[in-house]
Amino acid sequence: MSFTTLGLSAPILKAIQEQGYTEPTPIQKQAIPVILSRKDILAGAQTGTGKTAGFTLPLLELLSRAKPTKVEHHIRALILTPTRELASQVGESVEVYGKYLPFKSTVIFGGVKINPQIIQLRKGVDIIIATPGRLLDHMSQKTVDLSKVEFLILDEADRMLDMGFINDIRKILAVLPSQRQNLLFSATYSDDIKKLSDRLLNSPTLIEVARRNIASETVKQLVHPVDRERKRELLSHLIVAGDWKQVLVFTRTKHGANRLSEQLEKDGISSAAIHGNKSQNARTKALDDFKKGLVRVLVATDIAARGIDIDQLPHVVNFELPNVPEDYVHRIGRTGRAGSQGEAISLVCVDENEYLKNIEKLINKDIQKQVIKEFKPDPTIKAEPINMGGNSRSGNRAKGGNSRGSQAAKQSQSSSRSSSGRRR
Ligand code: AMP
Repeated sequence: MSFTTLGLSAPILKAIQEQGYTEPTPIQKQAIPVILSRKDILAGAQTGTGKTAGFTLPLLELLSRAKPTKVEHHIRALILTPTRELASQVGESVEVYGKYLPFKSTVIFGGVKINPQIIQLRKGVDIIIATPGRLLDHMSQKTVDLSKVEFLILDEADRMLDMGFINDIRKILAVLPSQRQNLLFSATYSDDIKKLSDRLLNSPTLIEVARRNIASETVKQLVHPVDRERKRELLSHLIVAGDWKQVLVFTRTKHGANRLSEQLEKDGISSAAIHGNKSQNARTKALDDFKKGLVRVLVATDIAARGIDIDQLPHVVNFELPNVPEDYVHRIGRTGRAGSQGEAISLVCVDENEYLKNIEKLINKDIQKQVIKEFKPDPTIKAEPINMGGNSRSGNRAKGGNSRGSQAAKQSQSSSRSSSGRRR
């Protein structure tokens, strides 16, 4: 099947062709015709499945089909995302796929000055891509007019609920016209997502694609057992011995991300850290430097890494396993994209055996273990409790509960938010 059979017009097909996409991904095959038929959808799809194009392409098509009633631009589509990084990336996709169309779009998120956003909005835009908190700021300052929105898209809705945005979302929904098309994307189906979709969607078509990182054969997963104190040394060894040009490394805490990045620099390996305590500019710069190949290692925490889209990342390393098993699936989804082979390596010490078991239970398979001779774990070292730093999340989920919206998770999320300034 090619893109030409999906009902998209020439300017969009041209932009797709320039991206080098030859065939729609499964989510695109399913979602595009349904969205074009003007139905609401509830789609289960993660980052890496091509979901962004799955909603952006038909959105642009529908916007371009409607006859413009006025010459000036007004907001016709609102895309909400949980994080600034995801908002930027979706914004870039809208620009790329809409390159040959006359629409204007803008990205609205916190952590940066509000005035340039107000100026953009005043000039007139057709599509906004926003995180909920900053959009509410604009609503209260009356610098955004959402009264003519025809399309609402919630991207990574589960993560938005996880991050405590439900009240913000409710306030935004309250000002939208009731006649509109709604598209809801979520990687997981919790009771909270069900409640939100019942409230938001009108007889939605359900679309689900396989959780790619579990089903996909393109990610090779490996565990290297190693002592707690030797992880950094092993990581440097793997990078140098394997001549890795680019690797994304996950730590559990912000402090751990900084420390590891500094240590790698001392080992002569260029590195940058990205996490919620860094300013938006610092995060954007770190990501850009990594994408340009100026730094070899990007060290990230889970929330900061959410939604990061880097083409064909060959290596992802879990320097520490996440305490929430689902985060492992999200993390390894950063590699092996769009058909290219990727490798997800976890450095696991004796403290993390329980986390590993929970992850294997979730993905329903044992991950291959490979001891590296020089780094053979010392069997006399006993397990110690894991320090979760300021980034801690609900431990009960790691013990088998997987309710994304659990109260404990919400509390710990909001406390980590308040210590780092509100995430918007
Ligand atoms: P997403 O799931 O939206 O984050 O997209 C994941 C990656 O897949 C992005 O880098 C897209 O550029 C890429 N992509 C999206 N659609 C296609 C396609 N039909 N063929 C190849 N790559 C694609």
